[in-house]
Amino acid sequence: MKYLPLHHNFTGKRCLVIGGGAVAAKRVARIIDAGGRVDLIATEIGDDLKKRIATNGGAVTIRPYSCGDVGAQYALVVAATDDREINRRVAAEAADVGVLVNVVDDAARCDVVFPLTIDRDPLTITIASGAASPTLTRLLGNRINSLIPGGYGELAGLVGRFRKQAQAKIPERAARVRFWENILQGAVAESVFSGKMAEAAKLLGKALDAAAKSLQANGAACFDTGEVYLIGAGPGDPDLLTLRAFRLLQQADVVLYDHLVSAEIIARLDADTELIYVGKQRADHSVPQQNINRMLIDYARRGLRVARLKGGDPFIFGRGGEEIAQLAEMGIPFQVIPGITAASGCASYAGIPLTHRDHAQSVRFVTGQLQDGSVNLDWKSLVAPGQTLVFYMSLNGLPIICKNLLAFGLESRLPVALIEKGTTPQQKVYISTLGEMTDVLARNKINAPTIFIAGEVVSQHHSLDWFRAK
Ligand code: SAH
Repeated sequence: MKYLPLHHNFTGKRCLVIGGGAVAAKRVARIIDAGGRVDLIATEIGDDLKKRIATNGGAVTIRPYSCGDVGAQYALVVAATDDREINRRVAAEAADVGVLVNVVDDAARCDVVFPLTIDRDPLTITIASGAASPTLTRLLGNRINSLIPGGYGELAGLVGRFRKQAQAKIPERAARVRFWENILQGAVAESVFSGKMAEAAKLLGKALDAAAKSLQANGAACFDTGEVYLIGAGPGDPDLLTLRAFRLLQQADVVLYDHLVSAEIIARLDADTELIYVGKQRADHSVPQQNINRMLIDYARRGLRVARLKGGDPFIFGRGGEEIAQLAEMGIPFQVIPGITAASGCASYAGIPLTHRDHAQSVRFVTGQLQDGSVNLDWKSLVAPGQTLVFYMSLNGLPIICKNLLAFGLESRLPVALIEKGTTPQQKVYISTLGEMTDVLARNKINAPTIFIAGEVVSQHHSLDWFRAK
C-alpha cells in the first residue's frame, strides 16, 4: 500500500488552490464541505466558484501563479491548472515550504490524493486506486453506494447517542458487540431506513433496557429482535428485485417463498439461509394460509429475521394484507417491501406501455379468478373506453373473460396480449385480438403463470419490443 489512509480533521484549516476550472471547483467544494477555508489564485474563475469561496471567507486572486504564493500558513495546496509545468512548479514550492500538495492528473507529484467519498455523515467510506484508474474507483463507488442505504448516516448518529448508555448497561465488551450487531441489522436499523427516527430511538432504548434486565436476571443479555419482512420479489427476473429487498433477503435467517418466486432469485440467496417452500398453486394449496401466518409468527418469536418472499408486489393479489394483519395484532415488528407487479414487469418486457396519451388514460388490474373459482366481474365497467385491462390469474378463465368482454361491447378486433412467464428467459408473448384469443389458446400449449392484457396499447408492442429484438 503506497498511501496511508487518514481522515484528516480539516475544520478551520487553510488551503490554497491554484487554478479555477471544473476540477478546481470540485476540490474546493470538497475542502469547504469538510470545514476548510480556501484561498484561490487563477487567471480565470466562474462566478459560482468565486461566490462559494468568498462566502466561506476565502480570498480569490485573479492572476497567474507566481513563486512565493505557497506559504507555510496553508495545510494543503492543490495544483489544478491545465498547465503541467505550472503545476510542477507549485508542487516544487510546496515541497520547499513543507506543505502537503495534491497535483491534478499527476500522481507522481502528489503527497495526498482525494479519494472517492461515499458520504453518510458521520459514516464516511473512501475509495482510492492510487491514481491507477479513477474510472474503476468510480464504478466500485457506484456499487458500494447502491448497497448502503441512505439512512446509514442517521443510524450511525443514533447509535452514537446511545453508546455511553450501552457501555454502562452492558459492561462486558463481547456481549455489547453482539448487542450492537443485532441492533444494526434488526428492527432499529430498519426503522431508521424507513425514516421513522422517533420509533427507532424508542426501540433502541427498549432493547437496551431488556438486555440490561436479562443480564441482571440470568447473566446473559437477551437479544430478541425477531421481525418479518414481507418482500415483493417481482415477476421473475432477479434483476427486478429492489435494492431493499435484496439487502433484507441477505440478512434474513429464514425465507418462506411461494411458487411464483423464480429459481434464479432463490439462487441469489445466501447459502446458509434456511429456505421453506410454502407455494400455492390453484388446486394445490401446499401450505394453508393460516399455517403460513402461524409460521411467520413462530419464527419471529424465536428471535429470527423472517423474510416472506412473494411474487410481484405483496399488496397486489398477494394476500399481503392478511399476513401482516396478524403480525400487527401480535405486536411483531414487520415491514412491507414493494415489488414490481406482474402487470408492469411483463408489459415492459413485452414492449407494451400500459397507458398511452392516445390510447389509454387508465389501467385496471383485475383478478380473473374469484375465491369460489368463478369469473364474476363488473363487465359493464370493464368495457368502458380509454382503459387498459390487465387480468391476473386468468389462464383458466380466459375463454369466459373474452366471451364476456365481447358480449358487453368490446370489439373483436381489439388488440390483446397473453404473456407467459414474463421477464424470465422463458418469456413468450402471444399477440392476437380479442376475437381470436380463444383459438390461440387452443392452438398453443400455454402454461401458467400468464398475464392477459387487453387494450389499444397492445398495438404499440412492435415499436417497443426491445426484449425480443435482443
Ligand atoms: N402479487 C403478484 C400477483 C400474484 S397473483 C404480483 O404483484 O404480480 C398470481 C398471478 O400473477 C398469476 O396468475 C399471473 O397472472 C401473474 N404473474 C405473476 N408472475 C408472472 C409472470 N412472470 N408472468 C406472467 N404472469 C405472472
